[in-house]
Amino acid sequence: MRYISTRQPATNRETLGFEDVLIAGLAPDGGLYVPTEIPKFSAAEMRRFRQLSYAELAAEVLAPFVGDAFHRDELLAILEDAYAGFDHRAVAPLNQIGSGEFLLELFHGPTIAFKDYALQVLGRLFDAVLARRGERVTIVGATSGDTGSAAIEACRDRENIDIFILYPHGRTSAVQRRQMTTVKSPNVRTLAVEGSFDDCQDLVKAMFADVPFRNRHRLSAVNSINWARIAAQVVYYFAAGVALGAPDVPISFAVPTGNFGNVYAGHIARAMGLPVAELVIGTNRNDILYRFIETGEMRITSVEPSLSPSMDIQVSSNFERLLFEVSGRDGAALAAAMAEFRKSGHLPASRETWNATRGLIRAHRVDDDETRATIAQVYRETGELLDPHSAIAVAASRAKGRKDGTPRVALACAHPAKFPDVVEEVTGRYPPLPAHMADLMTRPERETPIANDLAAIEAYVAANVAGNNEGSRA
Ligand SMILES: *Cc1c(COP(=O)(O)O)cnc(C)c1O
Repeated sequence: MRYISTRQPATNRETLGFEDVLIAGLAPDGGLYVPTEIPKFSAAEMRRFRQLSYAELAAEVLAPFVGDAFHRDELLAILEDAYAGFDHRAVAPLNQIGSGEFLLELFHGPTIAFKDYALQVLGRLFDAVLARRGERVTIVGATSGDTGSAAIEACRDRENIDIFILYPHGRTSAVQRRQMTTVKSPNVRTLAVEGSFDDCQDLVKAMFADVPFRNRHRLSAVNSINWARIAAQVVYYFAAGVALGAPDVPISFAVPTGNFGNVYAGHIARAMGLPVAELVIGTNRNDILYRFIETGEMRITSVEPSLSPSMDIQVSSNFERLLFEVSGRDGAALAAAMAEFRKSGHLPASRETWNATRGLIRAHRVDDDETRATIAQVYRETGELLDPHSAIAVAASRAKGRKDGTPRVALACAHPAKFPDVVEEVTGRYPPLPAHMADLMTRPERETPIANDLAAIEAYVAANVAGNNEGSRA
């Protein structure tokens, strides 16, 4: 399998293999990597998938994307190890909440949100490639609380990776902070910066901009646009699909959407042969994608906080991959359009591009009131507690999913205990943490407060990368 960038002119015929795409993340021209062709499964192959474990199915789905970068046995061993710690035997179980209506529970990983399904694989693939090359990297990142723990869990105990996560001291929830500060792995460091989330982001950017420092410590990022993440997310669409009768039954999916990575994986599953009746995105008040699908206008507005913070985004970076496809795979034209978007906040898109997008994806916008109402309604109907992101998926599925009896699947992307306050406010029940995290609030915690100061943070990183693990660790 070969890959190209979404911004690569057609005259440039250079392609990359999986290993290079995995390590690079973002293409040097600012584009995103996409495969030159999408592999397709036959109906007979999909029927055979019904008998496989989740890790075995993942190996089937990933193998064509990985190509010869990993032997089949090595890939399967990595996938079995990645999913071994998940707290449900099915890894991504379906939970029926109504007639023909299902939740796809994607919160059985270490941080109880769906990003674990790809990041647990990505960290291991990364580590294996680094070992082969005899290289190490230092991952640095900033978090407002939500994504830091998924990155930490992806990188902890990996031999060739050190990870440093900056978060704003005193400004994350206790659960978010403890998911980061109670990890004891020697290659994980969390820094409580005396400042805001924006300060943390600026510090990370400044570290990358400090070229001697960046090179000396081989800085890298856990990229949200890595193709390997998309590929790993395709797996649970197939898992749910074949469990509900695909390829002989078409399935509708509804996906709470921010960066467009999750729903894009559903689009790829369909391109690989899974019969998808309807692919519906749910957005919150930050509704740039909903507005595009409804009106054909893509225009940036300011980000406003909502009950579903993991979807509070201004620009959905993975949408560029779909745009590339529906606008005729013209990298030069897309590069120009993205430059215009960055400059003016308005994306020039033709009527054909808009129509092609609308033909693939429907959208529903769910404000905080409808989110609360959906949590309450599903609790009344079934006793099931939904986190706000999952509630948006259910609302979108009910509003725009196919009503002809084909199974409707809403992606439950976080455990209710991850966002307990709104769940309790609406249902009167405080969702307990799952068993593997039940002692989170009493685990010993180690906070490392540090000044909002680049020199102090670089000194800390330098003193604590591999070989210096004695550092501040008592
Ligand atoms: C990241 C995230 C989303 C958004 O997913 P995208 O792939 O960015 O569209 C939705 N819900 C939860 C709980 C998330 O963590």
